Amino acid sequence: MKQKGKTQSLLVALGGNALIRKGQVGTVEEQFENLKVPIRQIARLSRRFKILITHGNGPQVGNLLLQQECCSEVPRLPLEILVAQTQGQIGYMIESVLDSELMALGIQYQQFIVSLISYVVVDENDPAFLEPTKPIGPVLQEQTAMNAPYPVRKTPKGFRRVVVSPKPVTIVEKREIKKLIEQDFIVICCGGGGIPVVREGRSFCGVDAVIDKDLASSKLAEEVDVDIFLIATDEKGAAIHYGSAEQEFLREITVDQATEYLKEGQFPPGSMGPKVEAAIQFVQSGGKRAVITSIDSIEAAISGDAGTEIRPNP
Ligand code: ADP
Ligand code: MG
Repeated sequence: MKQKGKTQSLLVALGGNALIRKGQVGTVEEQFENLKVPIRQIARLSRRFKILITHGNGPQVGNLLLQQECCSEVPRLPLEILVAQTQGQIGYMIESVLDSELMALGIQYQQFIVSLISYVVVDENDPAFLEPTKPIGPVLQEQTAMNAPYPVRKTPKGFRRVVVSPKPVTIVEKREIKKLIEQDFIVICCGGGGIPVVREGRSFCGVDAVIDKDLASSKLAEEVDVDIFLIATDEKGAAIHYGSAEQEFLREITVDQATEYLKEGQFPPGSMGPKVEAAIQFVQSGGKRAVITSIDSIEAAISGDAGTEIRPNP
């Protein structure tokens, strides 16, 4: 049975920490337990909004890459295939937790869920192919990082492996996704930023990269025309002077203010930078609301009581 009166759509982009929290090793049990926090809120919100869910895959795809390198008996899989694997594994986990939470609310028969393997087109001439910037996998000991046979960078969380991360150009399945949400399906898609592909004539060819999930989510939000774009992470929003004594979380900023802070370097690449950039892009493309908030304050942020909201310039 379709629910009447759901005119607004909401896209929630879940950060990697929705599955693996700081200090955890990331067992499957931990990931299922962690997911309950955002998914319970999304289940409740599905009574009022048409829902799209996207998710990151940084820790998971990096772990799969390490697993490839630990075993020489079977052929190694390239990154594009590993991204596809994470869409399957995380999509399954989100879907099953969501199903239980909808059941707990007694609305499981009104909400149908689909996890979609999604491709995202990138530009083969994107300069991002020249320099790895996207952190994936576990935090490495300094010694391991120094001797690693792959590129490594120091991030706010510690040393991590980095891979190239081209910008998303368009979501291949955008029409299908739009149709599904119009028919009230809850859609889980563009996992891990989507499987990166380049166009080769009329077909697509996968490339060795990981797209930033915030930028891919913003592109998706724009292309399927959602009303609210919410990015859920492990901080309560975007702060200026982050990590210093002057740290100040922002409640509401205009596109111009956000752009200025980005230029000042307040939001670093690979973490808060792409979230703010994604929010700016969505609002500039005509989106109504873009909010960055914590995993446990999704509902509060929708009500305007939490998070950092990026607003159009007056
Ligand atoms: P996610 O998995 O949700 O994408 P990221 O690690 O990519 O998470 O980005 C969130 C992180 O950004 C936070 O854990 C925080 O350490 C970091 N961060 C860097 N600069 C800022 C800032 N100015 N305000 C808030 N968080 C920041
Ligand atoms: Mg991230």
